[in-house]
Amino acid sequence: MKVRFAALLFLVLWFCSINIFAQKVNEPKDVPASWSKPYQPFRIAGNLYYVGTDDLACYLVTTPQGHILINTGLANSAGLIKHSIEMLGYKFSDIKILLTTQAHYDHMGAMAKIKKQTGARFMVDKQDAQIAADGGQSDYAFGNKGASFKPVKADQLLHNNDTIAWDGTNIILLHHPGHTKGSCSYLLDVKDNERSYRVLIANMPSIVTEKAFSDVQAYPQIAQDYAYTFNAMDKLKFDLWVSSHASQFNLHQKHKPGDAYNPEKFRDDKGYQATLAELKREYDKKLRQK
Ligand SMILES: [Zn+2]
Repeated sequence: MKVRFAALLFLVLWFCSINIFAQKVNEPKDVPASWSKPYQPFRIAGNLYYVGTDDLACYLVTTPQGHILINTGLANSAGLIKHSIEMLGYKFSDIKILLTTQAHYDHMGAMAKIKKQTGARFMVDKQDAQIAADGGQSDYAFGNKGASFKPVKADQLLHNNDTIAWDGTNIILLHHPGHTKGSCSYLLDVKDNERSYRVLIANMPSIVTEKAFSDVQAYPQIAQDYAYTFNAMDKLKFDLWVSSHASQFNLHQKHKPGDAYNPEKFRDDKGYQATLAELKREYDKKLRQK
């Protein structure tokens, strides 16, 4: 009898542990197909490459001493990113640093897996370290909505204007909160044989909460954070820009798979300002929501 009870208890605990695990990694079922669709990797400018999916942008910054990967797509994106990196002639195992533009499941999905596979260090904006570590459970907008990812503990916390220096490449983190508490953009200088370019990898401040800002109890300063971010992003100076989603910077209009190398097609200050202005209008509308 005692043995049976112990066996039953074991089974109950086992099921519980499966359930806890299942809750931790729970992407929404209705994500756009373009998020998982492969996309031919290509060189954007200098040592910066696109290795993301059709819409989920992931960026590889290569150096002789190893690479930096920014964003990892969904949980099922790891293999795709690896394949893209290899297609470009680089080694996946040479990834040394992992970064994200925001700790949401569509950019953090494969982070834990890639970190484990490569042994790379994960560095994150301090304000997103908690949601990265709990797999999105504590996120103010997605926390209760079954939009989570495998938790990743940060090896290093980053702050506004911190420089990630690696083998001659300097990447500046720009804290752009609102979308998540620790959303951020990156600014880096890259060069090819012709010239150098200042590239902005922008996290555009789109709004994800359905609530009025005043009802977002888990993020009381959300409205001020967005206001800060719009102001900061409006002032940025750069030559080329890309962002967290391909659709946000019109990748598919600017570049066709197989096109020859041409960084100039990502010079688009007008498109950047127009996208920012459109998001600002949504923010202003949101401010009026009761
Ligand atoms: Zn997001």
